[in-house]
Amino acid sequence: MDLNLTADETQFRDEFRAWLAKHAPKDWEHRRDETVEQHFAFLKTWQRTLYDGGWAGISWPREYGGRGASLMQQVIFWQEMALAGAPPMANVLGLGLVGPTLIAFGTGAQKSRFLRKILSAEEIWCQGFSEPNAGSDLAGLQTEARLDGGHYVVNGQKVWTSYGWASDWCELVVRTDPAAPKHKGLTVLLVDMKSPGIEVRPLRQMTGESEFNEVFFRDVRVPVENVVGQVNKGWDVAMGTLMHERGTFGAGLQITYRRNMDRLVDLSRTIRRGGKPASQDPVVRQKLAQCYAEVQIMRANQMRAFSRISATGVPGPEGSIQKIFWSELNQRMQQVAQELLGPYGQLDGRDDRSVDHGAWSYGYLRARGNTIEAGTSEIQRNIIGHFVLGLPRSY
Ligand SMILES: Cc1cc2nc3c(=O)[nH]c(=O)nc-3n(C[C@H](O)[C@H](O)[C@H](O)COP(=O)(O)OP(=O)(O)OC[C@H]3O[C@@H](n4cnc5c(N)ncnc54)[C@H](O)[C@@H]3O)c2cc1C
Repeated sequence: MDLNLTADETQFRDEFRAWLAKHAPKDWEHRRDETVEQHFAFLKTWQRTLYDGGWAGISWPREYGGRGASLMQQVIFWQEMALAGAPPMANVLGLGLVGPTLIAFGTGAQKSRFLRKILSAEEIWCQGFSEPNAGSDLAGLQTEARLDGGHYVVNGQKVWTSYGWASDWCELVVRTDPAAPKHKGLTVLLVDMKSPGIEVRPLRQMTGESEFNEVFFRDVRVPVENVVGQVNKGWDVAMGTLMHERGTFGAGLQITYRRNMDRLVDLSRTIRRGGKPASQDPVVRQKLAQCYAEVQIMRANQMRAFSRISATGVPGPEGSIQKIFWSELNQRMQQVAQELLGPYGQLDGRDDRSVDHGAWSYGYLRARGNTIEAGTSEIQRNIIGHFVLGLPRSY
């Protein structure tokens, strides 16, 4: 594994860095007064700016609006975004999951119809996988689709659907053959969220946001040309989506963590413990050093995962190792921040006494979901046990 950039990669990095310095919004993290809808509209505009500048979908094919560049350049893109502290893009699931799935499994017509609008954020996507009784055991899902002429008729319920309230389209997994073994009778459909019979109910999280939702489907008609891959082979398509979610999701995360680490060190210099800056307390120093070492481990693991994808074209089980590591590390770092801040760590951005505009209070609460989303830590450990260590299945 060679961690040095090639001449082309360095040129790409410098070009994008200069573009970001000119175009990336600077004040966005501290905009306290805007509503969720206003904030989302801001993120959509930002993604559109990236798209118009030719910077969306770095490794996607040129014919569908991408840049046709290498995966390493895609990684550099995310790293530069994180280094610049640029806002995230609005269409997180469209870019990270649905697009790569369509590139791998979609028909030519589906690629032409959907990919560009994912990149430009003209159409926002959500992921309709989990149900009230099917999360880790995704194959146990019950939402059914019955063939009726040229349409599938969908009935059932999804839950924890991130961005459901803002989405135009959904990558939906449904049961099309109830008689088949549970992994075999599933199909993936592309569903227009404005179809009659869909109801989205936001769920309020402990951060105060309603990032995710319940989505109900009552006799929703989906044209047969919106099937992705083969009918009843949806498990393979859904697993491809999840491998991308675990494999390439958060390529810039280690840079974001590095920035958080710098903020933590700054905090430790300003907060006082026993009459001295907390940074002089040996216990605090140990904890900060541990976080620093773990961020470096995360970087090395990430490079290993990316070299694998570069060599094979698909994410491998390293994605599961990485998923456990980044999610649990974030929780540990947020915990150290709370220990440093004491009661101030609980103030959100609306309170003038909050530190970093309430970013630590928000970060601590939001981090709890990290070890659940995209597959829980227990499930990732099962995957590593089976596929990496070759142990027998535990379930
Ligand atoms: C922030 C966030 C965003 C999300 N966004 C989406 C989204 O956009 N779309 C979507 O479809 N879903 C989404 N989800 C749902 C997520 O995929 C599920 O919550 C997750 O797969 C776990 O499923 P569950 O909640 O049903 O828990 P369960 O599967 O019921 O698990 C409960 C507990 O049992 C453990 N467990 C279960 N099975 C095993 C086993 N075989 N071995 C060991 N332990 C086991 C789990 O690890 C967990 O601790 C999101 C979740 C979060 C937190």
